[in-house]
This record gives sequence, structure tokens and C-alpha cells, in this order.
Amino acid sequence: MGNKLSVFSGDTAFKGKLIKERKSSESLDLARDFLKEEYEAIGFEVSLQPFASGVNFIAEKKGSKNPEKVLILSSHIDSVGNKGANDNGTGTIGLLAIAQEFSKNNYDYTIRILGFDREEVGLRGSDAYVATISKKENIIGNINFEMMGTNSRKDGAFHIIDCKYGYSQFLTTELQSAISTLSLPLNVVKGCTDRSDHASFWRKKIPAVVVSENFFGGDSDPCYHAKCDIMDSRLDYGYMTSIMEAVLEASEKLIIKAK
Ligand SMILES: [Zn+2]
Repeated sequence: MGNKLSVFSGDTAFKGKLIKERKSSESLDLARDFLKEEYEAIGFEVSLQPFASGVNFIAEKKGSKNPEKVLILSSHIDSVGNKGANDNGTGTIGLLAIAQEFSKNNYDYTIRILGFDREEVGLRGSDAYVATISKKENIIGNINFEMMGTNSRKDGAFHIIDCKYGYSQFLTTELQSAISTLSLPLNVVKGCTDRSDHASFWRKKIPAVVVSENFFGGDSDPCYHAKCDIMDSRLDYGYMTSIMEAVLEASEKLIIKAK
């Protein structure tokens, strides 16, 4: 995951250019180009959804039994103008690593990965995306990834946030049971926020949770929205891998892995 994060957060060149920030449309185009190449290499079908102020990235693997039923995993790909290695490079590249696992199996339902644009200026990308959902009953739910890279207390604390919306709680339950099935060194810390793209799904009463580092429990990234949000030793890969394993296991239950 390190090599890909290094490209996505501007330390390693892609097509001869560095993605130094993800706020200008030029840089965002390059970032989406990189993701397109990565997802196509693992057999996902890629498309783009332009909207008034940006472009959402979409990568999909169709279900083999009921392709109309869809689980959405998402992250925002834009940054506040910094390198955004953690916010939200970790969420975006973490999803790519999970997708690599999905590409090895077949599932009954469709898995759709969304990279939202313009989250940092008011959840615009996710807002534009949910407006296109016509049959919300076909959406199993949304698991949204926010920054998940820092774990400075080394206690494995992280959030699964459903804000106690009854229709979303099965996603939390599925993630919690994945943690215990796999005996992952993670502790779920309570919190409630509508400050990321999952909130756009809630507005349509579509099941959604956000997964992130312990932002509200006093262990947030000191480089949040700062220039120092670069790839360095703040990022804890073992911690991120545990979160990704939990999401993979829970997702495979939700989209039904073929035997
Ligand atoms: Zn973010």
C-alpha cells in the first residue's frame, strides 16, 4: 500500500508528474488517471461522473447473481490543497488494496468503489452522486473511509460511526463481528458526525457508516488539514491493515462470496 500512497500523495511521479495536492482540477485529473489505471489492472470497470464543481470516480465489479444489488465503499479523493497523505490518501489507497482482494473472487452482488470529489468544500461529490440513485432499495449500504492512518497511542482505537440511525446499524454489527471473527487488535470508539460523505447517504435514508481513526476520542492526526499531512512515520500500516481486514470480511458477508 505504501508505494501506491506515495504516488497518490505526491512523493513518487505518475506519468512523469507529481500529484502535489488534490485541489486543482489538473491534479485531481492526474489522481483519477492513476486510480483508473490501478482499478482497470485488477479488472474493475471504471467510469467518471462529472457534476457542477468536480468529477466523481467510479470503479465497479459486477455481481454474478444479482448485479442490481450494490454495496458501496467510498472515500473522498480531494484534499484541502496539501498532499493529503492521511486525509484521504489512506482511505482511498486502503480501498484500492481491499479491491485487489475482491478481484480474486466472485460475489453474488455488485461492489462499487466511489472516489468522491469536492468533499472538503461541503460534500459536493457525494451529494451529486446520491442524487443519481433512483432505486435506493438496491443499495445494500455505504461504508465510507475517512483518514485512518494514525494510531499514536497504539491502542487500535478507531470509529465505526452510524449515529444510531437504526437503518444503518447492521453495518456496524457486521464490522464488529468481523473484528471478533478475525481477532483483530482494534477497539471501537463511539462518536457521531456528519462531516464526511456518508452523511449524503443518510439524507436519503440509505444505510451508511464512516470508518476512521480515533478522531473524536483524542487521538486525531496532528497534521489534519495541515501542510505536514505527508507520508511519514505517523502512518501506522499495521493498524490500517487491521481496519482494512475488518471491512473486507464484513463486505464479503454483505455481497456473498461464491463458494
Ligand atoms: Zn477527509
